[in-house]
Amino acid sequence: MDIRDLDGKALIIGGGIAGLMTALKLAPEPCVLLSKASIGEETSSILAQGGVAACIGADDSVALQVADTLAAGDGLCIAPVAERIIAGGPAAIDELVRLGVPFDRDADGHLKRGLEAAHSRHRIVHAGGDKTGREITLTLAAAVRAAPSVTIVEGFAARRLSVEAGEVTGLVAEGESGTVFFRTNRIVIATGGLSGLFAHGTNPVGSWGQGLALAARAGAMLSDMEFVQFHPTALDAPGPQLSLISEAVRGEGAILVDENGHRFMADVPGAELAPRDVVARGVWQQLRAGHRTFLDARAIKDLEAHFPGVTQHCRAAGIDPVTQPIPIRPAAHYHMGGIKVDLAGRTNIDGLWAVGEAACTGLHGANRLASNSLLEALVCAGFVAESLKSAPSKPARLEHPVQPLRPSDPHAVRPILSRAAGVLRTGAELRHAAAELYPLAGTNDAALVGLMIAIAALRREESRGAHFRLDFAQKDAIPVSPRDINLTQVCGAAQDLALAQVA
Ligand SMILES: Cc1cc2nc3c(=O)[nH]c(=O)nc-3n(C[C@H](O)[C@H](O)[C@H](O)COP(=O)(O)OP(=O)(O)OC[C@H]3O[C@@H](n4cnc5c(N)ncnc54)[C@H](O)[C@@H]3O)c2cc1C
Repeated sequence: MDIRDLDGKALIIGGGIAGLMTALKLAPEPCVLLSKASIGEETSSILAQGGVAACIGADDSVALQVADTLAAGDGLCIAPVAERIIAGGPAAIDELVRLGVPFDRDADGHLKRGLEAAHSRHRIVHAGGDKTGREITLTLAAAVRAAPSVTIVEGFAARRLSVEAGEVTGLVAEGESGTVFFRTNRIVIATGGLSGLFAHGTNPVGSWGQGLALAARAGAMLSDMEFVQFHPTALDAPGPQLSLISEAVRGEGAILVDENGHRFMADVPGAELAPRDVVARGVWQQLRAGHRTFLDARAIKDLEAHFPGVTQHCRAAGIDPVTQPIPIRPAAHYHMGGIKVDLAGRTNIDGLWAVGEAACTGLHGANRLASNSLLEALVCAGFVAESLKSAPSKPARLEHPVQPLRPSDPHAVRPILSRAAGVLRTGAELRHAAAELYPLAGTNDAALVGLMIAIAALRREESRGAHFRLDFAQKDAIPVSPRDINLTQVCGAAQDLALAQVA
């Protein structure tokens, strides 16, 4: 393949559910789908266990799901955005069924609907028990491979965007065979989450927010960067990428206990099914107090049949969840913030869109309602494709080819960010983290993303949703902290901190 043959085609970066669905929705318009791994592989999408939240039940409605979403988002969701995305849920499920996703059904052939934390209705549509992400991702990847309109380029990592006179003109990518330059005026960032920046996370380790760094260095605005959701129940095993013990296990009745069997969430409203941030803080406090924390799922009937993936992960770590409590700990899991976009997925840069976890639409606010993220990726992919179709391809320009930075390594960032920007935060630790990350951020994309999180977390002097400050434990009556941030503001704030430390 001659890369010049791809000039002018829309370029989608990322082979998870958001990127795959955008490419399919764009058909028959030609596009390029670029992924650093094989499409579908090394994605959060393939790991998703719970399912897709969609108000398809007779007892459910868009209004009820919006109300649950706004309650979880703790005052920062953009309500009209939530309404539009949630209203698209039933059609998105229909489309997946049409594409062949084998959703689980009851004896009458109706889609089964599970319950997850903070949902007021059973509305989580799932496939293969806890293999929903795998089933959807593999179905979409097969459809993309069969689509004549999509050119798949695998094994290349996007490294730098080219923007001239405020317009996207291309992208530099690097692979084992060298550096390539894609000349196009339409690029979609669908690079997923960033838990790879933390010592313990649930995303693939390669998910550390490179798309956010690409966008920031190109002048894009980012939003809600401080809001990182920590999943309360990751399987406590060695290594930065931990397996998830889905909320659905708690939905079926599993309880949280310490090493003495004490059920420490029993007195908290909602108990084990309280919002994720509340449960994560409950577990974190037990760990800080020197306890060990477990999820006891032994009372669930047919655990293995219900949760084959969870059972398999536990057994691989030497734990039999049918007979033993599962050791768990909180782990960075989902980023509510990201590249600021409107409902069409457009950023503030002409020719740059973002979709999926890399984007911040305003659906999730300060805390994501479980299983709303696959919904967002699927529905917004359609909105982005419509917007791309109405943006004409322009003749490729290449006046000043950009040079990629050296490949970034999140290794140095993990201990710094985990200490300062974890489940419980303080201004002093965040300032210290920013001072350590700033000198690295000029050349290291992972450090830049970590710095953006630290600065945004410092600016929010309150506790809200997933962001908890021990030094500002109260929630403001009206949230006043700025939500948007760009590279210039991050560098300015970091510079001020450095000067303050010298003075
Ligand atoms: C363990 C786990 C369980 C989850 N369970 C659920 C659930 O039940 N329900 C739910 O709604 N959500 C769930 N989530 C969240 C949800 O899976 C993700 O938010 C969603 O899949 C993100 O999709 P995405 O396409 O945006 O990103 P991803 O699926 O992560 O895909 C990102 C893609 O970008 C590529 N990429 C990254 N950087 C580059 C680069 N520089 N150059 C080229 N390619 C790049 C990656 O290789 C990958 O192909 C879960 C997440 C995890 C980790």
